[in-house]
Amino acid sequence: MEKKIPQATAKRLPLYYRFILNLHNQGKTRVSSKELSDAVKVDSATIRRDFSYFGALGKKGYGYNVEYLLQFFKDTLEQDAITEVALIGVGNLGTALINYNFSQSNNTKIVMAFDRSKRTAKTENGNIPIYSIEQLEEKLNGVEVAILTVPAAAAQDIADRLIDCGIKGIVNFTPARLTIPDDVRIHHIDLSVELQSFIYFLKNYPMNE
Ligand code: ATP
Repeated sequence: MEKKIPQATAKRLPLYYRFILNLHNQGKTRVSSKELSDAVKVDSATIRRDFSYFGALGKKGYGYNVEYLLQFFKDTLEQDAITEVALIGVGNLGTALINYNFSQSNNTKIVMAFDRSKRTAKTENGNIPIYSIEQLEEKLNGVEVAILTVPAAAAQDIADRLIDCGIKGIVNFTPARLTIPDDVRIHHIDLSVELQSFIYFLKNYPMNE
């Protein structure tokens, strides 16, 4: 791959990957941009543009080669390597994320969690250890990605500690805007903002325009 994939396209990669993997598992060898578009709800012009970055050129009457796409997505998303993730804050949201089996659709795995409270949350998907937040530095052990589901007021302090441990990326579910160095990547996922903006769009653009 020569060209760098634009961020907006990169964001859709896992979505495409999941769908292509399903097709492959069903024994399908090709897919049209219309089928893709219907399945992933991305318009077909965007799909064609995205896929041109993947070096996949759809042919009229044939569509895209599923095998090629699958290999591309695997290579690009490094699906063969499991990314280990630490989760900080085992409250309602944190527990839900722990119990959600991410590795079914991608190779991401929450391998440990931390909380300030001593209770050990019950986890459905096995034996994820839940340590005291005091043990963060001791236990993190090279894990490079963290999910933050602590209250907003605790977020910066924990982010600072994670950064000192060499964390590479933080998925921040708290509403706090965090100050982090340039070489650490952060994604903010604020569910209440998402919901609010969704409702705004629902009310103001009822026809999906
Ligand atoms: P719950 O109802 O279980 O408290 P919640 O998600 O509504 O869930 P929050 O107040 O958002 O609760 O806290 C989330 C989790 O983060 C809790 O389990 C809490 O113990 C933990 N927590 C709070 N402060 C810290 C901290 N400084 N370090 C680590 N964990 C913390």
